[in-house]
Amino acid sequence: MSQPLAQQRPRLQSVRGMNDILPPEAEHWARLEAAVIACLEGYGYRPIRLPIVEPTPLFTRAIGEVTDIVEKEMYSFADSLNGEALTLRPEGTAGCARAVIQHGLANQSAQRLYYLGPMFRHERPQKGRYRQFHQIGAEVFGLAGPDVDAELILLTRRLWRDLGLADMQLQLNSLGQPEERARHRADLIAYLEGFAEKLDEDARRRLQSNPLRILDSKNPLVQEICAGAPNLLDYLGEESLAHFAALQRILRDAGVEFVLNPRLVRGLDYYNRSVFEWVTDKLGAQGTVCAGGRYDGLVAQLGGNPTPACGFALGVERLMALCAAQEQGGMAAAKVPEVYLVHQGEAASRLAFRVAEALRDAGVKVLLHCGGGSFKAQMRKADGAGAAFAVIIGDDEASCEEAQVKALRDAAAGQRRVRVDALPGLICEHFFNDTVQKENEHGSI
Ligand code: ATP
Ligand code: MG
Repeated sequence: MSQPLAQQRPRLQSVRGMNDILPPEAEHWARLEAAVIACLEGYGYRPIRLPIVEPTPLFTRAIGEVTDIVEKEMYSFADSLNGEALTLRPEGTAGCARAVIQHGLANQSAQRLYYLGPMFRHERPQKGRYRQFHQIGAEVFGLAGPDVDAELILLTRRLWRDLGLADMQLQLNSLGQPEERARHRADLIAYLEGFAEKLDEDARRRLQSNPLRILDSKNPLVQEICAGAPNLLDYLGEESLAHFAALQRILRDAGVEFVLNPRLVRGLDYYNRSVFEWVTDKLGAQGTVCAGGRYDGLVAQLGGNPTPACGFALGVERLMALCAAQEQGGMAAAKVPEVYLVHQGEAASRLAFRVAEALRDAGVKVLLHCGGGSFKAQMRKADGAGAAFAVIIGDDEASCEEAQVKALRDAAAGQRRVRVDALPGLICEHFFNDTVQKENEHGSI
């Protein structure tokens, strides 16, 4: 005897660490993204959409060979059709810089850009750390001063306020310029060599290749050793110090609190001068919600005209988790249809389609019942969907171009039979009155 099909075939699952985002969560995501975009646009940032797949050398050159991302986190593959080395983007800055160079965007004027979408890193999946995750990034090209660094930070502070997020801590550091880092590097290696046996394998491996990254180690023993390491700030020249001081002055003037963290070095090689992270203690180990900094050398390093640049990326999953942790009422409200359209019979169904479209033309959110069933069953669905009204059409109503309107959230309101061409006006009037009433209650009119 043959087995039912479902038992024969193994069920397909999403790739480990790559998640489906279902409603209502996906609706919360859309609202969060809209809030972030509104904030970005309020500062004059414009959208750019970039490919998810890029040539592998873009990332090895931009991010650096000796970094977590390039060493062990990239989804790289050879295009089986032409052998080209490709990578699913692990972050957005490199691709954005590539696009700016390719299209000569920064040649005329400074560019303020933002993007959002999935990024891919082969990490060990855990809370706040996924293999497909999402970032919203902002990048500025063509402005070298500390005012832009400050603008990016003020923008993010406004965003936390808009989202009702308290207790975000801003950490700040300056990585100086490459020559300054080189002097620091020599002293850092000499210092760390003194602890060579105590360093973990990762740190020992990086001792010669990328010692600065050791400062970023998450291993507590390594952190302890790093506490006494030479401080990069002591190696900064006059210009770098002035840049960093000016950034701090603007932030103080704007009332932004921050802490200086000399071990904040960021996970990618392209940064110089200001680097910052917004961290929270509400998300356990993965506490960095937003990270960024200046990367003046990247555009030239990728073959473009020398162009100063600065940006940040925020992790959408972590931001969502934070909003959920703080129980944002506004974020939690799920979208419901305003009208559920119940219909039975052929003439009624044809009229129902017409009525639904007319209501939507008037701006009403309509869920048109599909799949037949008794009036009673359809009314249960209407109730379950959370609609404010059921509009009910049977063949009797259809024959006179009429419909029943039933208020589902107000038992006293009962049911009325009306002409279908009066429906959009009637429903809109209800929602308009309701909105006006709510706005009055909130004192905004
Ligand atoms: P971490 O130290 O947590 O690994 P990172 O330095 O690798 O972070 P960035 O490359 O600066 O992270 O990315 C910016 C932001 O994107 C992070 O602050 C975080 O909010 C988010 N992020 C990075 N990697 C992941 C991931 N694997 N899953 C979810 N969010 C991530
Ligand atoms: Mg990482």
